[in-house]
Amino acid sequence: MRDIAIIGGGLVGLCAGLVLQHSGRRVSIVEAGNLEQSRSDGLNARSIALSASSVQIFKALGIWRQIETQAAPIRHIHVSSRGRWGVTRLQAEDYQLDALGYVIESHALGRYLLDAVDSSNNIKLEQTAEFESIAQDAAVTIGYRKNKRRQKLQAKLALIADGANSKARAALGIRHQNFDYGQAVVISNVEVSQPKADTAYERFTPQGPLAMLPLGGKRYACVWTLAPEQASTACAGDDAEFSAALQDCFGFRLGLIERVGKRFSIPIQRTRADALHCGRCLLIGNAANALHPVAGQSFNLSLRDIACLHELLCENNLAELDDELSQIAHDYERLRAGEQRRVIRYGDGLVTTFSNELPVLDHLRAAGLSLLDLVPALKTQAAFAGMGMTFGGNRLLRGRL
Ligand SMILES: Cc1cc2nc3c(=O)[nH]c(=O)nc-3n(C[C@H](O)[C@H](O)[C@H](O)COP(=O)(O)OP(=O)(O)OC[C@H]3O[C@@H](n4cnc5c(N)ncnc54)[C@H](O)[C@@H]3O)c2cc1C
Repeated sequence: MRDIAIIGGGLVGLCAGLVLQHSGRRVSIVEAGNLEQSRSDGLNARSIALSASSVQIFKALGIWRQIETQAAPIRHIHVSSRGRWGVTRLQAEDYQLDALGYVIESHALGRYLLDAVDSSNNIKLEQTAEFESIAQDAAVTIGYRKNKRRQKLQAKLALIADGANSKARAALGIRHQNFDYGQAVVISNVEVSQPKADTAYERFTPQGPLAMLPLGGKRYACVWTLAPEQASTACAGDDAEFSAALQDCFGFRLGLIERVGKRFSIPIQRTRADALHCGRCLLIGNAANALHPVAGQSFNLSLRDIACLHELLCENNLAELDDELSQIAHDYERLRAGEQRRVIRYGDGLVTTFSNELPVLDHLRAAGLSLLDLVPALKTQAAFAGMGMTFGGNRLLRGRL
């Protein structure tokens, strides 16, 4: 019998394993894919923005130093609205921080997590193992198929981390809601002629926000919200057409857009589970909340969910907690639901308020941005929301296990 079983070894499942294996807990991860195959794809690689709260958690896990070698810091954020006078600037030094956040290629982050999992004696990672069934009474029994053979795993607690289309969530009978924003986001890496060190840009346009995140050197990750048909056109056109359209929208703050990588278009939608627990099973990551990528919050939010769970389980042996596990599951849902709702609202606000062509909203947007620059308290609130620091702390968020 394992202490904890995790279904899904994506970024969130691996992080949960690394956090919860502490204090000698035995963790098993059941992952359908082969994680060793993940590798860099040059200018076409996908990236993820890490908030200050995520950095704290990686520090507590003792893996931040390795991750940092591949992560580009964001020390300045420049926010503007296309065709309007409102501009706001956030600076890390104003908050006595080394950086407001970091950007890293997802495959590099995954590689470091996988190395840490491999070097832990407490984690057993089953790859190419496809989840099939779940049953629970005094323990959770998970059925999976590996090498065409059916296998079983028993644990006191199970974490469901198999993504937005979670099969395990469905097997538990937990329903979910999908919300489609009727927009799409185009993701592409670009190289510019005049990079600005450690500076990220967020530009609001009538179609939606455009973010340029520094990847180091001349490279930036572009996340551009457009109407679905515009996104299809942007992806279908050649590199020169895409560069010209992006340059027209973003302007020349970074000089010329010299090279562009492959374009991917993703519909902007979010998925939210109706409940975060069922008996001894808890939902984390995209299985619980898959937010749209524009706000860059899903992974960061999931890490804070894991930090909360770690706090609830504390350093106790799960055997000693057996009677309290269902109370812990309830507490996890109660404690996390509020922040999850707030982050969803924040993301919704970014897409809807800043993607609306009503003239009155246009003025409010501009006024809002300038106001933000002038009123430090408001700016601090916005910066801290982006960094995931608004909603209180726990041991992991203070950098301690
Ligand atoms: C373009 C884009 C940009 C983003 N940028 C950011 C950002 O800047 N900051 C941020 O915080 N978030 C960002 N996100 C969100 C972030 O990528 C996700 O929140 C995070 O990757 C979710 O991880 P997960 O492990 O929960 O789910 P997934 O990544 O979906 O992983 C699920 C895992 O479960 C496995 N699995 C699935 N089914 C089964 C099964 N039946 N049996 C066993 N295993 C199974 C899969 O193989 C997979 O490994 C972005 C998302 C996108 C799309």
